[in-house]
Amino acid sequence: MYNPNKFLRVSQIKLSEKTIELVEKAGKIYWENFDGKTWYGRCIFLSWYCSNATCSFCFRSTDKHKHMHAEDSRRSLASVLLEALFCKIFNWRIEFLTGGYDIIPYDELVEVMKTVSDVYGEKIWLNLGVLNDERLEKCRPYVKGICASMETLNPNLHEKVCPKKPIKPYDEMFSKLKGFKKSAAIIVGLGEQLEDIQYLFDFVEKHELDRITVYALKPVADTPFTEGPEPDDNLSWIASLRIRFPKLEIIAGTNLRRAEEVGYLMKAGANAITKFPATKQFGTKKAKFVEELIKAEKRDFVSNLSVLPNIDWDGEIDKLPIKNELKEEMKKKLVLYLKKFQNPKDIDKNL
Ligand code: SF4
Repeated sequence: MYNPNKFLRVSQIKLSEKTIELVEKAGKIYWENFDGKTWYGRCIFLSWYCSNATCSFCFRSTDKHKHMHAEDSRRSLASVLLEALFCKIFNWRIEFLTGGYDIIPYDELVEVMKTVSDVYGEKIWLNLGVLNDERLEKCRPYVKGICASMETLNPNLHEKVCPKKPIKPYDEMFSKLKGFKKSAAIIVGLGEQLEDIQYLFDFVEKHELDRITVYALKPVADTPFTEGPEPDDNLSWIASLRIRFPKLEIIAGTNLRRAEEVGYLMKAGANAITKFPATKQFGTKKAKFVEELIKAEKRDFVSNLSVLPNIDWDGEIDKLPIKNELKEEMKKKLVLYLKKFQNPKDIDKNL
Protein backbone atom coordinates (compact mmCIF):
# COMPACT_ATOMS: atom_id res chain seq x y z
CA MET A 1 0.00 0.00 0.00
CA TYR A 2 1.36 3.44 -0.95
CA ASN A 3 2.22 5.26 2.23
CA PRO A 4 2.73 9.01 1.75
CA ASN A 5 3.60 9.56 5.39
CA LYS A 6 6.53 7.21 5.61
CA PHE A 7 9.51 9.32 6.61
CA LEU A 8 13.01 8.04 7.21
CA ARG A 9 14.55 8.88 10.56
CA VAL A 10 18.30 9.08 11.07
CA SER A 11 17.96 6.46 13.77
CA GLN A 12 16.23 4.18 11.23
CA ILE A 13 19.13 4.28 8.82
CA LYS A 14 20.82 1.00 9.56
CA LEU A 15 23.27 -0.13 6.93
CA SER A 16 24.64 -3.59 6.27
CA GLU A 17 28.35 -4.27 6.84
CA LYS A 18 28.78 -4.53 3.07
CA THR A 19 27.26 -1.08 2.48
CA ILE A 20 29.30 0.47 5.27
CA GLU A 21 32.46 -0.91 3.68
CA LEU A 22 31.46 0.44 0.24
CA VAL A 23 30.52 3.84 1.66
CA GLU A 24 33.78 4.17 3.59
CA LYS A 25 35.82 3.29 0.52
CA ALA A 26 33.83 5.71 -1.64
CA GLY A 27 34.17 8.51 0.92
CA LYS A 28 37.95 8.11 0.93
CA ILE A 29 38.02 8.28 -2.88
CA TYR A 30 35.83 11.38 -2.83
CA TRP A 31 38.29 13.24 -0.58
CA GLU A 32 41.24 12.18 -2.73
CA ASN A 33 39.60 13.80 -5.75
CA PHE A 34 37.47 16.74 -4.53
CA ASP A 35 37.83 19.65 -2.13
CA GLY A 36 34.52 19.29 -0.27
CA LYS A 37 32.61 21.96 -2.19
CA THR A 38 28.98 20.83 -2.15
CA TRP A 39 25.88 22.44 -3.58
CA TYR A 40 22.16 22.12 -4.04
CA GLY A 41 21.07 21.56 -7.65
CA ARG A 42 17.64 22.77 -8.69
CA CYS A 43 15.66 21.20 -11.55
CA ILE A 44 13.50 23.87 -13.11
CA PHE A 45 10.26 22.48 -14.52
CA LEU A 46 8.63 24.14 -17.52
CA SER A 47 5.39 22.21 -17.49
CA TRP A 48 3.46 19.36 -15.92
CA TYR A 49 2.29 17.98 -19.26
CA CYS A 50 3.97 15.19 -21.23
CA SER A 51 2.71 13.81 -24.54
CA ASN A 52 4.49 10.51 -23.82
CA ALA A 53 3.10 10.01 -20.30
CA THR A 54 3.70 6.26 -20.30
CA CYS A 55 6.65 5.79 -17.95
CA SER A 56 5.19 3.63 -15.22
CA PHE A 57 6.79 5.39 -12.22
CA CYS A 58 6.12 8.95 -13.38
CA PHE A 59 3.40 11.16 -11.91
CA ARG A 60 2.62 12.32 -15.44
CA SER A 61 1.46 8.81 -16.33
CA THR A 62 -1.37 8.74 -13.76
CA ASP A 63 -4.96 9.42 -14.84
CA LYS A 64 -5.38 11.93 -12.05
CA HIS A 65 -2.45 13.94 -13.31
CA LYS A 66 -3.59 13.76 -16.94
CA HIS A 67 -6.98 15.15 -15.94
CA MET A 68 -5.46 17.92 -13.90
CA HIS A 69 -2.85 18.99 -16.44
CA ALA A 70 -4.04 19.35 -19.99
CA GLU A 71 -1.85 19.78 -23.03
CA ASP A 72 -1.72 23.54 -22.66
CA SER A 73 -0.95 23.58 -18.94
CA ARG A 74 2.47 25.04 -18.70
CA ARG A 75 4.10 27.22 -16.11
CA SER A 76 4.23 30.94 -16.61
CA LEU A 77 7.61 32.14 -17.81
CA ALA A 78 7.75 34.63 -14.93
CA SER A 79 7.59 31.85 -12.35
CA VAL A 80 10.26 29.84 -14.22
CA LEU A 81 12.47 32.95 -14.26
CA LEU A 82 11.93 33.55 -10.56
CA GLU A 83 13.34 30.10 -9.87
CA ALA A 84 16.36 30.95 -12.00
CA LEU A 85 16.76 34.14 -9.96
CA PHE A 86 16.55 32.16 -6.70
CA CYS A 87 19.27 29.87 -8.06
CA LYS A 88 21.48 32.90 -8.62
CA ILE A 89 20.75 34.60 -5.28
CA PHE A 90 20.81 31.47 -3.09
CA ASN A 91 23.76 29.96 -4.94
CA TRP A 92 21.81 26.93 -6.09
CA ARG A 93 22.99 25.44 -9.39
CA ILE A 94 20.43 24.88 -12.10
CA GLU A 95 20.54 21.12 -12.35
CA PHE A 96 18.70 21.36 -15.66
CA LEU A 97 15.71 22.85 -17.37
CA THR A 98 13.16 20.12 -17.86
CA GLY A 99 9.53 19.27 -18.66
CA GLY A 100 7.53 16.60 -20.43
CA TYR A 101 7.59 15.82 -24.15
CA ASP A 102 6.05 18.32 -26.62
CA ILE A 103 5.37 21.03 -24.09
CA ILE A 104 5.80 23.99 -26.41
CA PRO A 105 7.05 24.59 -29.96
CA TYR A 106 10.82 24.23 -30.04
CA ASP A 107 11.61 27.80 -31.14
CA GLU A 108 9.64 29.08 -28.16
CA LEU A 109 11.56 26.67 -25.98
CA VAL A 110 14.85 28.10 -27.24
CA GLU A 111 13.63 31.57 -26.27
CA VAL A 112 12.87 30.23 -22.78
CA MET A 113 16.38 28.72 -22.53
CA LYS A 114 17.89 32.05 -23.57
CA THR A 115 15.86 34.01 -21.02
CA VAL A 116 16.60 31.56 -18.20
CA SER A 117 20.33 31.69 -18.95
CA ASP A 118 20.13 35.52 -19.11
CA VAL A 119 18.58 35.59 -15.63
CA TYR A 120 20.94 33.00 -14.18
CA GLY A 121 23.96 34.62 -15.80
CA GLU A 122 25.41 31.41 -17.23
CA LYS A 123 24.72 28.74 -19.81
CA ILE A 124 22.46 26.02 -18.45
CA TRP A 125 21.93 22.24 -18.63
CA LEU A 126 18.96 20.83 -20.49
CA ASN A 127 16.94 17.67 -19.93
CA LEU A 128 14.25 17.68 -22.61
CA GLY A 129 14.52 14.29 -24.29
CA VAL A 130 16.37 13.42 -27.48
CA LEU A 131 17.36 16.45 -29.57
CA ASN A 132 18.28 16.25 -33.25
CA ASP A 133 21.26 18.12 -34.75
CA GLU A 134 19.18 21.12 -35.80
CA ARG A 135 17.68 21.51 -32.33
CA LEU A 136 21.06 21.11 -30.68
CA GLU A 137 22.52 23.89 -32.83
CA LYS A 138 19.64 26.20 -31.95
CA CYS A 139 20.12 25.77 -28.20
CA ARG A 140 23.94 25.77 -28.25
CA PRO A 141 24.38 29.50 -27.40
CA TYR A 142 22.50 29.05 -24.10
CA VAL A 143 23.17 25.45 -23.12
CA LYS A 144 26.36 23.87 -21.81
CA GLY A 145 25.24 20.34 -21.16
CA ILE A 146 22.63 17.76 -22.09
CA CYS A 147 21.21 15.38 -19.52
CA ALA A 148 19.53 12.17 -20.66
CA SER A 149 16.86 10.85 -18.31
CA MET A 150 17.69 7.16 -18.76
CA GLU A 151 15.94 6.03 -15.54
CA THR A 152 17.47 2.54 -15.86
CA LEU A 153 20.04 1.18 -18.28
CA ASN A 154 18.97 -2.42 -17.82
CA PRO A 155 17.42 -2.98 -21.28
CA ASN A 156 14.64 -5.34 -20.17
CA LEU A 157 13.56 -3.26 -17.23
CA HIS A 158 13.81 -0.08 -19.29
CA GLU A 159 11.45 -1.49 -21.88
CA LYS A 160 9.00 -2.29 -19.12
CA VAL A 161 9.09 1.00 -17.22
CA CYS A 162 9.64 3.39 -20.15
CA PRO A 163 7.84 1.66 -23.05
CA LYS A 164 7.85 4.76 -25.24
CA LYS A 165 11.20 6.23 -24.29
CA PRO A 166 13.75 3.78 -25.71
CA ILE A 167 17.46 3.85 -24.86
CA LYS A 168 18.71 3.72 -28.44
CA PRO A 169 17.94 7.31 -29.57
CA TYR A 170 19.72 8.67 -26.47
CA ASP A 171 22.64 6.38 -27.18
CA GLU A 172 22.79 7.66 -30.76
CA MET A 173 22.50 11.31 -29.70
CA PHE A 174 25.36 10.97 -27.19
CA SER A 175 27.52 9.02 -29.67
CA LYS A 176 27.74 12.06 -31.93
CA LEU A 177 27.25 14.90 -29.45
CA LYS A 178 30.11 17.40 -29.70
CA GLY A 179 30.74 20.57 -27.74
CA PHE A 180 28.26 19.87 -24.92
CA LYS A 181 28.84 18.29 -21.53
CA LYS A 182 26.98 15.03 -21.03
CA SER A 183 25.03 13.63 -18.14
CA ALA A 184 22.44 10.95 -17.38
CA ALA A 185 19.80 10.68 -14.69
CA ILE A 186 18.86 7.32 -13.24
CA ILE A 187 16.43 6.12 -10.59
CA VAL A 188 17.31 3.58 -7.92
CA GLY A 189 14.35 1.46 -6.86
CA LEU A 190 12.69 0.55 -10.15
CA GLY A 191 13.57 -3.13 -9.71
CA GLU A 192 17.25 -3.38 -10.51
CA GLN A 193 19.78 -5.35 -8.52
CA LEU A 194 23.17 -3.86 -7.70
CA GLU A 195 24.74 -6.10 -10.39
CA ASP A 196 22.76 -4.11 -12.98
CA ILE A 197 24.97 -1.12 -12.25
CA GLN A 198 27.33 -2.57 -14.85
CA TYR A 199 24.92 -1.30 -17.56
CA LEU A 200 25.31 2.18 -16.11
CA PHE A 201 29.10 1.85 -15.86
CA ASP A 202 29.22 0.87 -19.54
CA PHE A 203 27.07 3.87 -20.51
CA VAL A 204 29.19 6.33 -18.49
CA GLU A 205 32.36 4.89 -20.00
CA LYS A 206 31.09 4.69 -23.58
CA HIS A 207 29.88 8.30 -23.65
CA GLU A 208 32.50 9.73 -21.29
CA LEU A 209 29.81 11.34 -19.17
CA ASP A 210 30.72 14.34 -17.02
CA ARG A 211 27.94 13.87 -14.52
CA ILE A 212 25.37 11.42 -13.18
CA THR A 213 22.23 12.27 -11.24
CA VAL A 214 21.03 9.40 -9.06
CA TYR A 215 17.47 9.66 -7.76
CA ALA A 216 15.96 7.40 -5.14
CA LEU A 217 12.52 6.42 -6.41
CA LYS A 218 9.81 8.50 -4.83
CA PRO A 219 6.70 6.33 -5.16
CA VAL A 220 3.73 8.10 -6.66
CA ALA A 221 0.16 7.09 -5.77
CA ASP A 222 -1.65 5.14 -8.56
CA THR A 223 1.58 3.80 -10.03
CA PRO A 224 2.82 0.21 -9.49
CA PHE A 225 5.47 1.48 -7.07
CA THR A 226 4.72 1.76 -3.37
CA GLU A 227 8.12 2.05 -1.69
CA GLY A 228 11.36 3.88 -2.35
CA PRO A 229 14.64 1.95 -2.16
CA GLU A 230 16.16 1.02 1.17
CA PRO A 231 19.09 3.28 2.16
CA ASP A 232 21.35 0.22 1.72
CA ASP A 233 20.42 0.00 -1.98
CA ASN A 234 20.47 3.72 -2.67
CA LEU A 235 23.83 4.26 -1.00
CA SER A 236 25.38 1.18 -2.62
CA TRP A 237 24.63 2.61 -6.07
CA ILE A 238 26.14 5.99 -5.26
CA ALA A 239 29.20 4.55 -3.51
CA SER A 240 29.81 2.03 -6.31
CA LEU A 241 29.68 4.82 -8.90
CA ARG A 242 32.14 6.89 -6.89
CA ILE A 243 34.53 3.94 -6.52
CA ARG A 244 34.35 3.07 -10.23
CA PHE A 245 34.58 6.72 -11.41
CA PRO A 246 36.61 8.73 -8.88
CA LYS A 247 36.30 12.04 -10.76
CA LEU A 248 32.71 11.82 -12.00
CA GLU A 249 30.33 14.50 -10.74
CA ILE A 250 27.63 12.66 -8.83
CA ILE A 251 24.44 14.46 -7.88
CA ALA A 252 22.26 12.58 -5.42
CA GLY A 253 18.53 13.10 -5.28
CA THR A 254 16.76 13.40 -1.99
CA ASN A 255 13.26 14.45 -0.99
CA LEU A 256 11.36 15.45 2.09
CA ARG A 257 10.87 11.85 3.17
CA ARG A 258 14.51 10.90 2.69
CA ALA A 259 16.22 14.10 3.84
CA GLU A 260 17.68 12.26 6.84
CA GLU A 261 19.80 10.26 4.41
CA VAL A 262 21.70 13.33 3.19
CA GLY A 263 24.73 12.90 5.49
CA TYR A 264 25.13 9.35 4.16
CA LEU A 265 24.91 10.60 0.57
CA MET A 266 27.93 12.76 1.40
CA LYS A 267 29.76 9.84 3.03
CA ALA A 268 29.12 7.80 -0.13
CA GLY A 269 30.86 10.44 -2.25
CA ALA A 270 28.08 12.51 -3.82
CA ASN A 271 29.16 16.01 -4.90
CA ALA A 272 25.77 17.64 -4.50
CA ILE A 273 22.14 17.07 -3.65
CA THR A 274 19.05 17.74 -5.71
CA LYS A 275 15.26 17.31 -5.54
CA PHE A 276 14.96 18.73 -2.03
CA PRO A 277 11.86 20.99 -2.26
CA ALA A 278 13.90 24.09 -1.46
CA THR A 279 11.36 26.79 -2.31
CA LYS A 280 8.59 25.12 -0.30
CA GLN A 281 10.97 24.31 2.55
CA PHE A 282 13.14 27.42 2.55
CA GLY A 283 14.08 28.34 6.10
CA THR A 284 12.26 25.41 7.73
CA LYS A 285 13.82 23.18 10.36
CA LYS A 286 14.08 20.48 7.72
CA ALA A 287 16.09 22.74 5.40
CA LYS A 288 18.41 23.72 8.28
CA PHE A 289 18.76 20.06 9.23
CA VAL A 290 19.84 19.19 5.68
CA GLU A 291 22.45 21.97 5.78
CA GLU A 292 23.71 20.68 9.15
CA LEU A 293 23.94 17.10 7.92
CA ILE A 294 26.09 18.21 4.99
CA LYS A 295 28.34 20.42 7.11
CA ALA A 296 28.73 17.63 9.69
CA GLU A 297 30.49 15.66 6.95
CA LYS A 298 33.08 18.49 6.78
CA ARG A 299 31.67 19.61 3.44
CA ASP A 300 31.76 23.23 2.36
CA PHE A 301 28.06 23.69 1.54
CA VAL A 302 27.98 26.71 -0.76
CA SER A 303 24.21 26.89 -1.32
CA ASN A 304 21.71 28.60 0.94
CA LEU A 305 18.53 26.79 1.97
CA SER A 306 17.63 28.80 5.03
CA VAL A 307 18.78 32.42 5.37
CA LEU A 308 16.88 35.08 3.48
CA PRO A 309 19.41 37.71 2.42
CA ASN A 310 18.60 41.34 3.10
CA ILE A 311 18.63 42.54 -0.49
CA ASP A 312 16.54 44.76 -2.71
CA TRP A 313 14.70 42.02 -4.60
CA ASP A 314 12.92 44.37 -7.01
CA GLY A 315 16.29 46.01 -7.68
CA GLU A 316 17.75 42.58 -8.53
CA ILE A 317 14.91 41.99 -10.98
CA ASP A 318 15.36 45.47 -12.50
CA LYS A 319 19.00 44.63 -13.27
CA LEU A 320 18.09 41.58 -15.38
CA PRO A 321 18.60 41.78 -19.16
CA ILE A 322 15.00 40.79 -19.95
CA LYS A 323 11.82 42.52 -21.15
CA ASN A 324 10.16 44.97 -18.74
CA GLU A 325 6.81 43.18 -18.85
CA LEU A 326 8.48 39.99 -17.63
CA LYS A 327 10.15 41.92 -14.82
CA GLU A 328 6.78 43.27 -13.68
CA GLU A 329 5.24 39.77 -13.72
CA MET A 330 8.20 38.43 -11.74
CA LYS A 331 7.80 41.15 -9.12
CA LYS A 332 4.12 40.30 -8.68
CA LYS A 333 4.86 36.60 -8.16
CA LEU A 334 7.84 37.31 -5.95
CA VAL A 335 5.60 38.76 -3.23
CA LEU A 336 4.04 35.34 -2.56
CA TYR A 337 7.40 33.57 -2.50
CA LEU A 338 8.95 36.10 -0.12
CA LYS A 339 5.98 35.80 2.20
CA LYS A 340 6.53 32.06 2.28
CA PHE A 341 10.29 32.39 2.79
CA GLN A 342 9.72 34.81 5.68
CA ASN A 343 7.20 32.50 7.38
CA PRO A 344 8.57 28.97 6.96
CA LYS A 345 6.09 26.26 7.89
CA ASP A 346 7.43 23.05 9.38
CA ILE A 347 5.21 20.22 8.28
CA ASP A 348 7.25 17.66 10.22
CA LYS A 349 6.91 18.89 13.79
CA ASN A 350 9.46 16.41 15.10
CA LEU A 351 12.29 18.29 13.45
S1 SF4 B 1 8.92 10.93 -20.74
FE1 SF4 B 1 9.57 11.85 -18.78
S2 SF4 B 1 7.87 13.20 -18.19
FE2 SF4 B 1 7.09 11.84 -19.80
S3 SF4 B 1 6.16 10.13 -18.69
FE3 SF4 B 1 8.27 9.53 -19.12
S4 SF4 B 1 9.44 10.16 -17.28
FE4 SF4 B 1 7.44 11.22 -17.21
